[in-house]
Amino acid sequence: MNNEQVIIIGAGPCGLAAAIELQAIGLNPLIIEKRNVVHSISQYPTYMHFFSTPELLEIGDIPFTTANDKPSRLEALNYYRNVAQRKGVRIHAYETVTSITPLSEGGFELISQDRYGDELTYRAAVIIISTGYFDHPNKLGIPGEQLDKVSHFFREAHPYTGTKVVIIGGSNSAIDAALELERVGASVTVVYRGSSYSPGIKPWVLPTFKSLVDKERIQMRFDSRVIAIGPRTVAVEKAAVSEQIANDFVLALTGFHPDRDFLTSIGVTIEPEGYPTFNDATMETNVPGIYLAGVVASRREANEIFIETGRFHGRRIADHLRMTGYPSSSA
Ligand code: FAD
Repeated sequence: MNNEQVIIIGAGPCGLAAAIELQAIGLNPLIIEKRNVVHSISQYPTYMHFFSTPELLEIGDIPFTTANDKPSRLEALNYYRNVAQRKGVRIHAYETVTSITPLSEGGFELISQDRYGDELTYRAAVIIISTGYFDHPNKLGIPGEQLDKVSHFFREAHPYTGTKVVIIGGSNSAIDAALELERVGASVTVVYRGSSYSPGIKPWVLPTFKSLVDKERIQMRFDSRVIAIGPRTVAVEKAAVSEQIANDFVLALTGFHPDRDFLTSIGVTIEPEGYPTFNDATMETNVPGIYLAGVVASRREANEIFIETGRFHGRRIADHLRMTGYPSSSA
């Protein structure tokens, strides 16, 4: 049995920021992370650049300086890894939290499974859930979605050279992927249900994209939906008229959602609007002692909270713990 004051689940930027805020009030939290530090970012497109400038991604008052005005994925990996090491954040990597049970005497029992399949048991007075959303892509719910040619993640363009690719979605992820794919000689069709370009598209990227659409080097289908995916085609519907497009691969880049089932399994209630019950000022859920940090606390779309904003959740939690008295170890 491992006894802890505070356990944070997830070593993303917001879980790390929370750990550092708690260190600042004299606590020494443990992060349990199912892969490794900032795992989600390591899964992002290999050559991506963040839309935020580096100072807006900083945590723990450690400067994030980059050669260009927007950090690359690799720079962000270096930065967060270094911050975690410099601050001596305790991380148990490659350990997945599988259950949390409130104890009658107070605090929680937490079970995790390590990479060898062994079960570990912890007790903690306070638990902060910072599990993000990246493991849970929004599914389309259409025939053919389960085919091998369909992916909800885009890593890099090279494997798609010379192939016919349909990208579903109109966000930055879809636009960035389309640009990379066009550069490697893929034939790209972007199918988007919106009737014009999303206002969230990075303004420095949109002109390049539009120009490729104008030159018909990328096909852009507005007001359209993919309604079925077959081995060699996709069916696209616009205004109740459907059309078959020849196709080799589908990238369904339709966003992500936090795993609410894990929250409900530990007694956190879900509001009628679909988001977890928690106090904005303190980040504490309806289960006293269970807090949320980062994207898992999103109220509407998962992109409502991002690193720029979620990095401050830990400070609210630290303030609340300081006001209510530091948790003692649940030993
Ligand atoms: P995550 O980073 O997702 O971390 C959650 C962690 O929890 C993961 O490491 C995961 O492995 C772990 N975990 C999950 N379940 C368990 C479990 N049961 N047990 C143990 N560990 C678990 N935001 C910005 O502010 N600026 C940007 O420019 C920006 N660009 C982006 C570009 C892309 C392509 C994407 C996809 C997102 C971007 N974002 C940006 C959003 C940002 O990356 C996320 O908001 C951020 O990662 C959320 O941090 P988090 O700590 O809440 O969650």
